[in-house]
Amino acid sequence: MLRIDDRVRCPQCNERSRVIWVSQDGKRAAIQCPRHHSQMNRGPSRFGSSARPQTKSEKNLVFLVETEEAASTVKR
Ligand SMILES: [Zn+2]
Repeated sequence: MLRIDDRVRCPQCNERSRVIWVSQDGKRAAIQCPRHHSQMNRGPSRFGSSARPQTKSEKNLVFLVETEEAASTVKR
């Protein structure tokens, strides 16, 4: 089971990331990657056609992951 402050691999860059949140049922966790990522933009924006697609690179991006998957990459 994942705990806050565990180190897991970032699903995008494999960098060590920190667990910052675990859901109450323990099935999902939020991890924060120290590297820069461009934010994922999948298809048409859900914010409507007026929203411009942006590919800004962000540091400390937070990912939502399945804890079961992430737990297999934990580095303690
Ligand atoms: Zn990353």
